[in-house]
Amino acid sequence: MFKTIEEHVRKQVAPAALRAEFRQHEFELMRPFCQLIFCCSIGIWLIFDLIVSYLGNQGFTWLSGLFMGLLGCITVVLGFTRKSHHFDVLNLLFIAVITLGMRLVIEGIPIALRPVWLVLGVSTVLYSVSVLPVRRWSFFCAMAICWAMLNPFYGTNIDLDDLEAAMLLSYAVFLSGLVIYSYLRIRQAKLHNFYMSKVLLEQAYVDVLTEIPNRRSFMAKAERQLQQAPPGQFLAMIDIDNFKKVNDQFGHDSGDEVLKRVAGHIKASMAGFEFARLGGEEFAIFFQGLDQQAAERQVAALCKRVREDLGAHPVTISIGLAQVNGGDSLSLALVRADQALYEAKHTGKDRFVLWTAQLGGA
Ligand code: GH3
Ligand code: MG
Ligand code: MG
Repeated sequence: MFKTIEEHVRKQVAPAALRAEFRQHEFELMRPFCQLIFCCSIGIWLIFDLIVSYLGNQGFTWLSGLFMGLLGCITVVLGFTRKSHHFDVLNLLFIAVITLGMRLVIEGIPIALRPVWLVLGVSTVLYSVSVLPVRRWSFFCAMAICWAMLNPFYGTNIDLDDLEAAMLLSYAVFLSGLVIYSYLRIRQAKLHNFYMSKVLLEQAYVDVLTEIPNRRSFMAKAERQLQQAPPGQFLAMIDIDNFKKVNDQFGHDSGDEVLKRVAGHIKASMAGFEFARLGGEEFAIFFQGLDQQAAERQVAALCKRVREDLGAHPVTISIGLAQVNGGDSLSLALVRADQALYEAKHTGKDRFVLWTAQLGGA
């Protein structure tokens, strides 16, 4: 089953909205990691700067302080960054500052050692960028900044036609290719997993036939709302009247059409409330924030709406309404709504009945 769904997902092109959601989700998940990378980068740069400054007898200059301050500020801003597309730009800014800082530090070491340290710098920065949650354009801009700032042929004594130059060039091509490949593959794999989990989640929480939330979704969401809301909320249980007749007279497919139509009415009129198909021809709605009168108005209007829908095989519905008192569980409320529904069925159908203690004792 997993393989079938995976194959299906693999063949699909992830929609733009899903990609945007993925980027945001990934950034939120990885923000602490990005902060860690920024902090470690500042730490490494500082150590290197101190070594070069003191062993090279240059002392710690105001410029070093300025770079530390700038990098620190960008890291603090990252703490307040909430949007992934802002991080795309912020990361570029960080890379521009740190590679400039690296270039200036490396300028302070003997010229013969510079190419190696420049290439080491590029490798470290590029590797870090390849695992950060940035978009393609931002990644390739970061690459361009790295190679421009830490170009091992600039400010060094390498002759373009000697062996060292050929080796450096080969390494640069190899490194760039490897980093681009791993960046693209990792992004693709992560997007694929995100898409896959979305599809599976949807299948687990949405009713296949009516495409409205299913019982599992209702139990989870209504339960959460119930815990957060003050006591006195209302819950409705809905059942289609004489539905078996539709199936028997017109066939199962017509029955399915009726189910979809009723689900459509619930979806259209109950936006803002939690609703679901519980199973068979039963539905439920959790009216958070409504008093008794408003809840009664809602269910009466739904009965009317379904009754007045004169499409193929018209049907009516019966509704049991129950108030959820403080300390009552969702399951207890559903039992009470079911008792009220039973009463609605036995007093003529196409109506709603509000649960009372009398019905509970019956
Ligand atoms: P009442 O007015 O008392 O509710 O009578 P009813 O005929 O609606 O109730 P009953 O529980 O006897 O019938 C429910 C029927 O719903 C039985 C079952 O075959 C049918 N059913 C359950 N799930 C589906 C479904 O997914 N599609 C179709 N077409 N029918 C379904
Ligand atoms: Mg039923
Ligand atoms: Mg029924």
